[in-house]
Amino acid sequence: MNKTLRPAVIAGNWKMNKTPAETTALINEIKPLVVDAKCDVIVCVPFVDLSAALDATCGSNIKVGAQNCHFEKSGAYTGEISAPMLADMGVGYVIIGHSERRTYFGETDVTVNKRTLAALESGLKVILCVGEYLEQREQGITSELVAMQTKIALQGVSAENLKNVIIAYEPVWAIGTGKTATADQANEVCEAIRATVAELYGKTAADSVSVQYGGSMNAANADELLSKPDVDGGLIGGASLKATDFATIVTAASK
Ligand code: PEP
Repeated sequence: MNKTLRPAVIAGNWKMNKTPAETTALINEIKPLVVDAKCDVIVCVPFVDLSAALDATCGSNIKVGAQNCHFEKSGAYTGEISAPMLADMGVGYVIIGHSERRTYFGETDVTVNKRTLAALESGLKVILCVGEYLEQREQGITSELVAMQTKIALQGVSAENLKNVIIAYEPVWAIGTGKTATADQANEVCEAIRATVAELYGKTAADSVSVQYGGSMNAANADELLSKPDVDGGLIGGASLKATDFATIVTAASK
């Protein structure tokens, strides 16, 4: 991590877990454990939990994010939630392009771009997910693939708005599987993503963008992953649901 150039960011992706009451309880557990964090701390909760999360985090150093948003502001999109709706309720962040949305809900690079633009237009900060399947890694195309995903997702994003984008490198084979990328593998791809951002926006902008690693990061492996110069934090799934594990990762990112 190079915290002199960019903030370290630890974000929990709670996925489809926790009721509103459980959200309040978990945040109340996390809060005292991360009060001295020297990194940004975000919890990305299910839509129905956002209100409880905003109430529970009020006055703390924990920020709240959603896990998706639609690209239209309003309209006939049954079951969807728009970026202005999230912004209006005080949500600060939104995950866009998570591999579970790409795999199970038909998300494409093009819709990821549309959602990114809509979120930024509403003043939300975006956690933009990119990453390869195992077969793609085995074909040796990881760097090209994440570069392409990054370029398409950022199409039309101004240099000014890039400041509101965090990129999360999440190898699909490492998500929820217990198989973590090695610290060197994570750093290599985070570095390649930064090089892509440099191609698009220049070196200064690339040096300022936070690139997280996500994929079975936990209390035991966070230190090593976060010690790498291009790994600026983590997007944490399973381990974000246990207050002590999440706090240990926040502590690792605060060093
Ligand atoms: C994720 O959901 O973004 C993730 C990285 O999950 P896990 O930490 O459980 O692999």
